[in-house]
Amino acid sequence: MERSFKKEVQALRLGDGETFRGEGILAVTKALLQSGVSYVGGYQGAPVSHLLDVLVDAEDIMAELGVHLETCANEASAAAMLGASINYPLRGAVTWKSIVGTNVAADALSNLASPGVIGGALIIIGEDYGEGASIIQERSYAYALKSSMWLLDPRPDLSSIVRTVEKGFELSEASHAPVMLELRIRACHVTGEFATKNNRKGIVSALDKLTGPPRFNYARLSHPPATFTQERLKVSERLPAAREFIRVNKLNEFIPGDVGDVGIIVMGGLTNSVLRALERMGLADVYGVSRIPIFVLNVVYPLVPEQIREFCVGKRSVMVVEEGYPDYIEQAVNVELRRADIPTRVLGKGPLPSTGEYTSDVLLEGLASFLQNEKPQGIDGEMLAEKARGLVAHKAKAAAALGPLPPRPPAFCTGCPERPVFSAIKLMQRELGPTHISTDIGCHSFATFAPFSMGNSILGYGMSLASAAAVGPNMQKRPIAVMGDGGFWHNGLITGVASSLFNKGDGVLVIMQNGYTSATGQQFMPSSKASPSGDAPGMDIETTLRAMGVKWLRTVRSYSVSTMASTLKEAMQTVERGLKVIIADGECQLARQRRVRVEDAEKLKQGKRVTRVRYGVDEEICTGDHSCIRLSGCPSLTVKPSPDPLRSDPVASVIDSCVGCGLCGEVAHAAVLCPSFYRAEIVRNATLRERLVHRLRQKVIGWLGGYGGEVAA
Ligand code: SF4
Ligand code: SF4
Repeated sequence: MERSFKKEVQALRLGDGETFRGEGILAVTKALLQSGVSYVGGYQGAPVSHLLDVLVDAEDIMAELGVHLETCANEASAAAMLGASINYPLRGAVTWKSIVGTNVAADALSNLASPGVIGGALIIIGEDYGEGASIIQERSYAYALKSSMWLLDPRPDLSSIVRTVEKGFELSEASHAPVMLELRIRACHVTGEFATKNNRKGIVSALDKLTGPPRFNYARLSHPPATFTQERLKVSERLPAAREFIRVNKLNEFIPGDVGDVGIIVMGGLTNSVLRALERMGLADVYGVSRIPIFVLNVVYPLVPEQIREFCVGKRSVMVVEEGYPDYIEQAVNVELRRADIPTRVLGKGPLPSTGEYTSDVLLEGLASFLQNEKPQGIDGEMLAEKARGLVAHKAKAAAALGPLPPRPPAFCTGCPERPVFSAIKLMQRELGPTHISTDIGCHSFATFAPFSMGNSILGYGMSLASAAAVGPNMQKRPIAVMGDGGFWHNGLITGVASSLFNKGDGVLVIMQNGYTSATGQQFMPSSKASPSGDAPGMDIETTLRAMGVKWLRTVRSYSVSTMASTLKEAMQTVERGLKVIIADGECQLARQRRVRVEDAEKLKQGKRVTRVRYGVDEEICTGDHSCIRLSGCPSLTVKPSPDPLRSDPVASVIDSCVGCGLCGEVAHAAVLCPSFYRAEIVRNATLRERLVHRLRQKVIGWLGGYGGEVAA
């Protein structure tokens, strides 16, 4: 895994009255253990990857409590795990990245939400929305609405997050509905402290098992005609029960303020950002005391009508701070006030933009505009608007003073085994012409950026082959689908491969077999050489594909650019019809470097021989046409001024971060580039023979160079 939490997880053992200090994501794990969960599971993805990593690292603590942990094959299997809470008083929690993960889990979620639950069922979703997000910009809110699941959005503060998790289970049980808890990236990584409680064993657990199933009860099945009753129960019983629980347990918070005629209704997760914007305008302090009253929605669905009315009555206007579109909360507040005949004006989208992340500056400008227009008593709105404009302009001035910064698009890591495959595709396309490339989610999607700029569609994780199904029959050349091994196990095996074989598809599938789900932090998966427990899971892609009936199958070392290019050519041109699969085999370089660095450090400590390969460019031979850079794009391959005063073009240069993956040499060979690359081996703790040979070489080079047998060391 990218990050180990072995040390931090010890904080999960803290008991009554002790103080936990750390990150939000770790606090969530502690809250789960304090809540008496019987099972946890999930599928990794930012920003909640670390939640699953923490759970894996805390496996021994969970075993002591009898908590079952499942690292699920995808989000659908994680959601289906919650089926344990339909019939039994088992508390369970699952986690994944949303919106995409929720899309994958949607079928199971509908079938879970319909019969409802007896044990508390919590779905912790990493809401990857905003400027740093890696996925499409949609809200998970729609799922909560359509399936009648409740949606919590705790204020990014550790005590608030922990309380929301604990109360989330109680809410689920009180209303018999699954509960989603959305964690934005800021909530996941916010640091702070909270007073801990003892961990609790579940009522039922691996230490205290059920004796048998309950009496058969058709009403617990999501099957007609039971579903018709379940639909009614969602509205007539579960929703009122949830609202009552939220009200009685004060899950939402009211922050008072001395300005009585306006107010702010904010999604819990945005509370800190709103307070910061108010603080910048001098309307709040750093401790969260505000002059403007704020209604903090730690539960964004369902809203509690009485609370909305109570907050708004007597105010001229309220501003709803709701990130993303559609404006579900703003609409609901409007409807509630109109129904109750309360004349408070509701603003939101307008002063604030309809789309995009509500960063500190966006909120500053939006709140200033609201206050300027609404003119609350005792506040100089004009002065505030002027101040906000000054604060935002100040940043722009600072940026202008710094000068333009070069763009830094994301790219493959240095030495990534996936880069050579795209170099090979580029070379193949030079000869055969361009073809449709359907790409996928994972590190290989970096090939959509320069210098490769490859990929015509991305349809979801593991979907590349399926998304080429209708392209192939309509195109003269075979399409190429690229998929990672993570995507293959997540979805691609059935959605892509089985479907293609079943329909006699005639395309090319390249599977990047790097051994981990790398993009989410190098978690293990079914074909990894190890597992969280240390043993190999024992599943491999090649055997699986052959068992399914794939006939044309090649496994090629991903760094062998020439072989890869010729295999691609063969796959594109062969008269053999059917699915052609190329497994590009090469371990994720990031994971490899992390492993090798530790092994090498240990060897050096023991005085053992350690070698490191690096590539270099002979400046005198480099022609300066930079084809190597255009074909590779490795961040360690750059340019520097030519040492030749008669040449103005810079020469290629390999910097010290080169990990010696060999691509430079392979590309130079496969593309018949200038022979300027050389391979060097840096040997530490060299053997006696190596030292003697080295000295001899130095002498010979010295004589040949006319230095009398001496060269600089
Ligand atoms: S994490 Fe691994 S697979 Fe992903 S870009 Fe880096 S080296 Fe390549
Ligand atoms: S050999 Fe070339 S491609 Fe590989 S890490 Fe070094 S500079 Fe990058």
